[in-house]
Order: sequence, then structure tokens, then C-alpha cells
Amino acid sequence: MTLYPAEYTRIVVFTGAGMSAESGVPTYRGRGGTWERYQWEEYACQEAFERDPEGVLRFHALRRQAVLQCKPHAGHEAIVQLEKNHGSVTVVTQNIDGMHQRAGSRNVIELHGSLWRLRCPDHGVIDDVGERYTTDHCDRCGGWLRPDIVWFCDNLDEAVVDRALTAISSCDLLVSIGTSGVVWPAAGFPVAARENGAQCVEINPEETDMSYLYETAIREPAALCLPNLFDYKLL
Ligand code: NAD
Repeated sequence: MTLYPAEYTRIVVFTGAGMSAESGVPTYRGRGGTWERYQWEEYACQEAFERDPEGVLRFHALRRQAVLQCKPHAGHEAIVQLEKNHGSVTVVTQNIDGMHQRAGSRNVIELHGSLWRLRCPDHGVIDDVGERYTTDHCDRCGGWLRPDIVWFCDNLDEAVVDRALTAISSCDLLVSIGTSGVVWPAAGFPVAARENGAQCVEINPEETDMSYLYETAIREPAALCLPNLFDYKLL
């Protein structure tokens, strides 16, 4: 399949864990997944953080090191090229690994937060990139900083969800890549896009429970499919 970006006014690329699979970022579920080896109750919820902030931060520092061993792939690069060749591209991702930004994407909405930010409940968010955390306490109040990630039992940030929904409900092309699409609010995205008349394309080697919402499916892995998907010549 070929898509001609010039035919569309606003494009949204929506990604999930499958987008990072070929970069080698461990998945959460399934064989070898993070939650097969670790209990999320011990490492990925506010209660755990309140019980043992150092342990939770150590766990996330290990995940940062694991992600830094991985590199963006040709599919991430193809999305960067799409941004460079088209005036309105928004990347909405469920991933927390920052891989799109490392590849060079600029307009990224992170629904589930980022491994590369820390948050004080009272004094907001700071960027913190690199293998180790540069700090773990707020320099204003001295309290512990927690990873700015949507953990188990956390609510999504409503302002972030609103930004994503605004982009999706006004796009005319939605390309969804590597997501099972069942985690809220992802399930509503193709519906919102279609209500605006958008063309919805799913890239996933496997059929998903949400596949019926997409009029086109490309059953290929992201790094194979994306580099050949877009044609920038004017029709
Ligand atoms: P998911 O695990 O539910 O679904 C992943 C989908 O990707 C599957 O449908 C699978 O068939 C598909 N897939 C696998 N390899 C692929 C490839 N090479 N190319 C294209 N598709 C491929 O993931 P989800 O829908 O993102 O939801 C799970 C949650 O886990 C999300 O909240 C996400 O934030 C989180 N998560 C994030 C990361 C990360 O930051 N990299 C990693 C694991 C999980």
C-alpha cells in the first residue's frame, strides 16, 4: 500500500508497544515481558512509591538503562520524514520510552508519560534524561520526585488526553501502529477519527480486537512497512 501525504490536511500517527518492539524495548506482557519478571505492585504504582521510593526509582533507572541500549529503527525514521515533508503531523504514543523524540519527532503527545521526566506533586515536572537520575528530590520543597509515568491505578492526565483527542478528531488520516488498541482511551481513537471522515490505517502483524474499526490493515512489522509507506510526490 502507498499513502500520499499531500492528499491529507492533518495526519495523526498513533503508536503502542509494537512500535518499539523492533528496537528491542521489552514489552510489558507476554513472554519475557516486564510484568512476567517483576510485580507491578512492587514497582509501578503510587502505593509502592510511598512505601519504597528508592526501590521504585532504582527499578525505573534500570528500565532507562535498558531503553538506552535500544535505538530507534527505520520505522521511527520514516515518521520523522513524514513530519519533515508535511505541515501537520501529530504523533500520539502510549509508549514511555521517548523513542520517537530520540529519532527526531517533534510533535509528540505522550499519553502515558515518559521515563525521561520526574514529577513533584506540588511543583510540577522536570526533564531528566540520561542513564542515571540527576536528582531524586524536588529542589523547591525537598520531597521525593516520582517518574512522570501513568502507573497502575493512576488516572491519565486529562489535559494530555484532550490534546490527543483534539488532534485525532480533526485529522483526515490516522495511522495506528503496534497497538492492541484496547487500553482506554485508545479504543475510542479510530471511532473519533472516522466521525471526522478520516481514513484509518492499522499497521500490525496481528489482527487486533479493534481491527474492524480500520478500513485498511497492513499485516507487517513497523520497521518493514513504514519506510515504504509514504510517497511524497504530488499526484
Ligand atoms: P500491547 O502490548 O497491548 O500491543 C502491542 C501490539 O503490537 C500487538 O497488537 C502486537 O501484535 C503489535 N506488534 C508487535 N510487534 C510489532 C511490530 N514489529 N510492528 C507493529 N506491531 C507490532 O501494547 P499497547 O497497545 O501499546 O498497550 C500496552 C501498554 O503498555 C501501553 O500502555 C504502553 O504504554 C505500555 N508499554 C510501553 C512500552 C514502551 O514504552 N516501549 C513497552 C511496553 C508496554
